[in-house]
Amino acid sequence: TPALRIENLEKSYDNGFVALKGISLEVAQGDFFALLGPNGAGKSTTIGIICSLVSKSGGKVAVHGVDIDEDFPAAKKFIGIVPQEFNFNMFEKVFDIVTNQAGFYGLPRALASERAEKYLRELGLWDKRDVTGRMLSGGMKRRLMIARALVHDPKLLILDEPTAGVDIEMRRGMWEFLQKLNADGTTIILTTHYLEEAEALCRNIAIINHGAIVENTSIKDLLRRL
Ligand code: ADP
Ligand code: ADP
Repeated sequence: TPALRIENLEKSYDNGFVALKGISLEVAQGDFFALLGPNGAGKSTTIGIICSLVSKSGGKVAVHGVDIDEDFPAAKKFIGIVPQEFNFNMFEKVFDIVTNQAGFYGLPRALASERAEKYLRELGLWDKRDVTGRMLSGGMKRRLMIARALVHDPKLLILDEPTAGVDIEMRRGMWEFLQKLNADGTTIILTTHYLEEAEALCRNIAIINHGAIVENTSIKDLLRRL
């Protein structure tokens, strides 16, 4: 079973704008996959549909073989999402932001605390565990969202433009973290509009433009043809 299977996915927004024109994709378990495209191509729309924040107009999405229309609660357990916008409570403490996510996944409190410590340490945020979210820099906020997305140990981590607004040095650190996570078995999908980022991290790539997939191949093959 692929980690993610998207078939003929369509999205028309309420104002009539067609954001996805029937895209199909398959991401194998263990892959590190890039969804590359310019602003407005449909990347966030695709991710929004996968995590059920955006309604779809047609097509199918399955996560580890579970159709999101048939059993979203089961599909959700496989997925960790790092959205583009900071959507945590800025007045909550860093540690609580991560552990409070656990309730959403029905995770026991003690296990949530254990995982929060593990990921906050690995992401260099353990020293900040008792400060409120708003006190963090942009790069730290991004890493906090990664820690939060991992608290239920998802098999598939999806990141929407993870290094947007993150400085070069922190970007490297984040890349290393993601590479290790992938090497340890987590499937990773990220959206980006930087080919260099896809090249540095990913094995396979789909290029999306105006709501359609225009390339879907390995990074190696793409670079050979450029
Ligand atoms: P849907 O009900 O199809 O999921 P949304 O609830 O996401 O649609 O969007 C509701 C409305 O918000 C849209 O019809 C649109 O008018 C407006 N809107 C929100 N974000 C944008 C955007 N980025 N560009 C244009 N319009 C937007
Ligand atoms: P990307 O993530 O690749 O930058 P998006 O998926 O955010 O692209 O947006 C794809 C297109 O859909 C854009 O043209 C955007 O303006 C439009 N769009 C996004 N949300 C809405 C909405 N709620 N209503 C209408 N149009 C939208």
